[in-house]
Amino acid sequence: MKVLVIEDNELNLRLASDILKTRGYDVFEARDADTGIAIARKELPHLVLMDVQLPGMDGLAATKVLKGDEKTRHIKIIAFTAFAMKGDRDQILEAGCDGYISKPFKLDEFIETIESAGVPAKKTGSSERESS
Ligand code: MN
Repeated sequence: MKVLVIEDNELNLRLASDILKTRGYDVFEARDADTGIAIARKELPHLVLMDVQLPGMDGLAATKVLKGDEKTRHIKIIAFTAFAMKGDRDQILEAGCDGYISKPFKLDEFIETIESAGVPAKKTGSSERESS
């Protein structure tokens, strides 16, 4: 399963990316919305983990672009947000996101949210690695 992480904070990007890779996802990374949208159109990932606060175009605007495009609208988008007050949640869902993860996040909640979006890891907890 392909997951695209769009996140401008290097630490959060590394953290999310490493967790996903460890779980067996094929991970693509972008640090801004324009790059992320270009990768999404090319790779058609199963899921995008979308930081809300990005330099330039923000994550909600980028979500609307992807959800407004016939080619990419099926891609699940989970907002990755530092602020999830009630108003923000409404905005996130209105923009077309399929869910959200609040930062800082707990590992089990992170994985659970990704998997509940219908994007299970290829393997879970197995010590076997295809790449090793
Ligand atoms: Mn950010």
